[in-house]
Amino acid sequence: MTRSSRSPLRLLASLGIEHPGEIDVEAIAFSCGATVVYEPLQGCAGRILGYEDRAIITVDSDCSRARQRFTAAHELGHWLRDRGSVSQFSCSQQDFVLSWGKEDPERRANRFAAELLLPEPMFRRDAKDRELVFDSVRELADVYETSLTSTAIRLVKLGSFPGMIVCNERGAGRWRWFVRGPLVPDSIWPVDRPGRESVAFELLNDVEPGGKEVVPVSAWVEGDGLDRFAVHEDTLVVGRYVLSLLWWRDESHLLSILEGD
Ligand SMILES: [Zn+2]
Repeated sequence: MTRSSRSPLRLLASLGIEHPGEIDVEAIAFSCGATVVYEPLQGCAGRILGYEDRAIITVDSDCSRARQRFTAAHELGHWLRDRGSVSQFSCSQQDFVLSWGKEDPERRANRFAAELLLPEPMFRRDAKDRELVFDSVRELADVYETSLTSTAIRLVKLGSFPGMIVCNERGAGRWRWFVRGPLVPDSIWPVDRPGRESVAFELLNDVEPGGKEVVPVSAWVEGDGLDRFAVHEDTLVVGRYVLSLLWWRDESHLLSILEGD
């Protein structure tokens, strides 16, 4: 296997896959020498056992289908990168939720999985002009058979509108990770904990949700004088995590940064 075949897009092209419904992760793994099997696992979501150029990927049969697909693709990412050197690997559900921010083997495997299951050209086409809200994420996740988290990150990165996704955890002192879309300047950083005016604050603190959709930028972003700008917030509870999609629907905050205001 050549180095280039580690690229998910080349892999999909080599198999003639052009539509989301054709992304059969077991068949793709098999074409790379890896057999995917399902059984109940304890303490991890997936693992890989490799020997020379063959591998067995075991995926927890108790997970949802979207999770299973992502786990299989994630393990395949490890396999294509490390085949020959790695003999065994196991990955926890936590790796999938938390390893989006830092550069490490788990992040690389997550990125591989996202690129394989949510390929950029297809996803860009399907995400075009979709609002940056979880309703859009759900529709796309249904089509691609992917988790809400991985689909939401893809929508932030490849969708049409400026936005960011921030993951907070109950009881934690600071956000766990965040991903900016390409239209959001690098100078924008989420505050450690979402402010009182945010929907996430309500959900993290068991306050009765007030049904807000638009909140002051200052509830989410570090910096002075940001209460005069607004951002659209859609927040979802995923287990102990709270995922917030922030959409600069009104772009005046971003324009003020570009203009050096
Ligand atoms: Zn892993």
